[in-house]
Amino acid sequence: MITESTPYFSKTRRGLPALTIQGYIYNIQLRRAGKVRWVCAHRRGYDTPYFPKTARGQPALTVQGYRYSIHRRQGLKVRWTCDHRRGCNSAVYTVQDEIVAVRGEHNHPPKIHN
Ligand SMILES: [Zn+2]
Repeated sequence: MITESTPYFSKTRRGLPALTIQGYIYNIQLRRAGKVRWVCAHRRGYDTPYFPKTARGQPALTVQGYRYSIHRRQGLKVRWTCDHRRGCNSAVYTVQDEIVAVRGEHNHPPKIHN
């Protein structure tokens, strides 16, 4: 059974490999002798949005520690809503994987680590 804590591999929007474990995203830092060292993607910039896939293969967007899923597509424009729900009305709009607008405020802290 695939759960939120199951590690999974995906690609970043630049086509680089990404690894997601319990909501944290890692990128390859170095490969040596068959081993791969993954480092937390947050070291590359907290503000950089990521487009991993969820464990069920659905598109997801992570920005500033908040996780979004697609609410509506309108041509190239996509409206993403915060996965937290429960009264949170924050939404992000993207066009071709670039964030063009952020609406609303979160009513909860982001799911991030230091
Ligand atoms: Zn939220």
